[in-house]
Amino acid sequence: MAGAVLLVGLGPMDGHLAAGLLLGLLTLASLLLHECGHLLAARASRVKVREIGLCLRGSYIRREPARMPFDDAAIALSGPLVNALIAAVLWTAPGVGHWLAIYNLVLATSNLVPLPGSDGWRAFTAWNRNPADARSPVVMAGDK
Ligand SMILES: [Zn+2]
Repeated sequence: MAGAVLLVGLGPMDGHLAAGLLLGLLTLASLLLHECGHLLAARASRVKVREIGLCLRGSYIRREPARMPFDDAAIALSGPLVNALIAAVLWTAPGVGHWLAIYNLVLATSNLVPLPGSDGWRAFTAWNRNPADARSPVVMAGDK
């Protein structure tokens, strides 16, 4: 969300309000597509998803933990992967499309930094967990 406000605030494309508003909406769509990446990976791993949505802090998904650490890591990495794919597809697009590509690249890379709460952290820690450990539901929030 902060990224959307930042990019709209920069006034892309000679300050055209319509382009800024469009970019804002597309950044929100990017956040939702990021969460849809997590959702699809969770479904593929037969992990129950409780909730997915947007809030003032960003997008989030609440799900059950996966049985296998690899699945948790795959679910965590799937969101940034979606953003990287969007960036790759739109990289040569003109105007708002290129700004959206940059935003998605930043979203993908920033989420991969293994800091607590990030997708990179979840993927990193998934490898260190014992599959037999009881786990509480996973909240994947705070996506930038
Ligand atoms: Zn994520």
